[in-house]
Amino acid sequence: MLTNEYAKRVYDQVTRRDGDQPEFLQAVYEVLESIEPALADHPEYEANGVLERLVEPERLVKFRVAWTDDAGRCQVNRGYRVQFNSAIGPYKGGLRFHPTVTESVVKFLGFEQVIKNSLTSLPMGGGKGGSDFDPKGRSDAEVMRFCQAFMTELQRHIGQFTDVPAGDINVGAREIGYLFGQYKRIRDEYSGVLTGKGLEFGGSLARTEATGYGLCYYTAEAMRVLRGDGFSGKTVAVSGSGNVAIFAIDKAQSLGATVVTASDSSGYIHDPNGIQLDVLKDIKLDHRGRIKEYADRVPGAEYHEGFVGVWNVPCDIALPCATQNELDEDAARTLVANGCTVVCEGANMPCTPGAIEVFKQSKVLYGPGKAANAGGVAVSGLEMSQNSYRLSWSFEETDARLKSIMESIVASSLASAERYGHEHDLMIGANIAGFVKVADAMVAQGML
Ligand code: GLU
Repeated sequence: MLTNEYAKRVYDQVTRRDGDQPEFLQAVYEVLESIEPALADHPEYEANGVLERLVEPERLVKFRVAWTDDAGRCQVNRGYRVQFNSAIGPYKGGLRFHPTVTESVVKFLGFEQVIKNSLTSLPMGGGKGGSDFDPKGRSDAEVMRFCQAFMTELQRHIGQFTDVPAGDINVGAREIGYLFGQYKRIRDEYSGVLTGKGLEFGGSLARTEATGYGLCYYTAEAMRVLRGDGFSGKTVAVSGSGNVAIFAIDKAQSLGATVVTASDSSGYIHDPNGIQLDVLKDIKLDHRGRIKEYADRVPGAEYHEGFVGVWNVPCDIALPCATQNELDEDAARTLVANGCTVVCEGANMPCTPGAIEVFKQSKVLYGPGKAANAGGVAVSGLEMSQNSYRLSWSFEETDARLKSIMESIVASSLASAERYGHEHDLMIGANIAGFVKVADAMVAQGML
């Protein structure tokens, strides 16, 4: 519950203005509630209208994306880019192509990105974008034409020093390539305007692996510091089977855990012997297939319809890597009853507020997405640095920087949590650490 008068007033204002945006309200409420202990110490935030400004995007563009399908028909989708906050650097954040993308979803993601990017310690503001375009069942040529139409409009709003998009759900190397090609064609300029680019044209080594690897570095460090423990010998449940999930499975297994699940929007697989990564990669990354095929190919593995069932599988550590609100209060209770003691989020806001409450009461080590999944955008920041230098670092060097960034996020979160009287609380700590830096920058730059 909100207790601070200033936070309450700002939240009331958001509910009046954006009452029809449930995901955005959920993200704002969580942050306002977490940062209350810091507000009392910083009266200058209220005097400078920091919270009022923090919850209102600097700019939100909505645009029509008209493209031609393979049958020659005109299709129309809606595109978005929210430029949420530029206090500490150019807007930075991914693009998501999914039928569930709405203004509310783009705004919740952009708002989370502001705090997340601040936590990485790199100079990046927060933004997000995407479209309700559904690439499922679309040919490669259709995806290309959609990306070109999307960028034809988006290009006027972005730039290497103003706003640098990247991937998110359904936007990977293929889409970034098409988007980048179109930007270059229209603007006649070769710049690091997007991250997640192919290695041949300015991409960074370890960017593909970064979110999943970073999630495991964060989880391992939090477990080491708070529990004196690690991944070795643990059973891990992962949801999702995209880029984040696949490289989280990869790293968790290389750190000695057995990962027994993965899922897609239709259902989940349970492989008690440990997920065979080469098979999963072949199905999901190489052929864009359904996860069901895994059970047909691997003896001993089972497929179950319905993705929420993944949380019924007993595990020590759960890594939700699919999408927002995929893990609810009931699922949280089941996980805890089955012995799960660690939950770190690879997706953005995958746990509902009810689930987080269950984890708090059950003393589960809970790592919030905006800290635990910051590895993707952190290596995007490193890609921007490499583009500016006109050079590229080795995989080892980039991976080592990623690991140290994730460890420092754990340290700064725990330090903020302790300073404001919530020792060991990684969620309150992450929100305060990320927020204070942005808030101080906003105060320093004056009211506008
Ligand atoms: N979409 C990712 C995220 O949620 C990465 C964004 C980026 O690399 O800019 O943080």
